[in-house]
Amino acid sequence: MRHVPEADIDSVQVYDDVTAAKRQPTRGNLQSARNAVLAAYIEYAEAVPEVANLPEIDISDPQSSALLHAYNNKTVPLTKLRSNLLQRVSVARCPFCGIGESSTLDHYLPKELKPQFAILAENLIPCCGPCNTRKWKHVVDKETDARLFIHPYYDEIPPIQFLKVNVRLDTLRGTLGLRYKVFRPDGISVHVYRHMQSHFKLLGLDDRYRLRSLEHLRGQHRALARLYGPLNDEVRVSNKLNEDADDYEDEYGLNYWRTVLYRALANNNDFCDGGFQLLTHIQ
Ligand SMILES: [Zn+2]
Repeated sequence: MRHVPEADIDSVQVYDDVTAAKRQPTRGNLQSARNAVLAAYIEYAEAVPEVANLPEIDISDPQSSALLHAYNNKTVPLTKLRSNLLQRVSVARCPFCGIGESSTLDHYLPKELKPQFAILAENLIPCCGPCNTRKWKHVVDKETDARLFIHPYYDEIPPIQFLKVNVRLDTLRGTLGLRYKVFRPDGISVHVYRHMQSHFKLLGLDDRYRLRSLEHLRGQHRALARLYGPLNDEVRVSNKLNEDADDYEDEYGLNYWRTVLYRALANNNDFCDGGFQLLTHIQ
């Protein structure tokens, strides 16, 4: 969960290019819906990040279908839009989870609910398949009306640690328990805390971070063993883990799962004092 820059794309130009594209069977409906859709684009820009409750617009069912078709139809301008959004280093890793490769585009406001934003660049978020699938058509909490997910282009992520992992090392059983959770530190409002928490829960990040962490750590045990050495130098192990945590924090922020993981392990005496060796047994 992190902020990423929006792409420098002229969405009005995209709309006109998609409308004029070859093999665009719904051109008439796109032309007749143009004024209403472009007015909705302006409302979106003025409302960000609180875009969940933008008003319905007055377009017909065939016009709605034309907008959906415009996104799904692989015209040259649409292919260019997808490429311009996805081929950026800043979004190569999924901004929703920070784990997977951004290989798909998510409609922040689902296109089935808000077809007017089906080809709006500002509503299209590069992300990984699992996040896209889990996010599905969820937008707001039905009880509180609060948005459930972070809008990576427009939501500010608080520069305070709100993600932590509890480490439970059982050397007898040879297990390493990791439990990620979002907590509420001083300086974060209840509203922001709930926003981060719903994003975390609905995307299944507790389990996904846990599995990804164990898989990652399994590849680290040789490097840790070299640092520990014949002198059982736990301080050297801890220092190295802290250095790596600093590097992850500088590059990806306080709430990146690896920053949080490395910091927690650096502070776990049992792990640093040879406990890391059980990583070789994790299945
Ligand atoms: Zn993801």
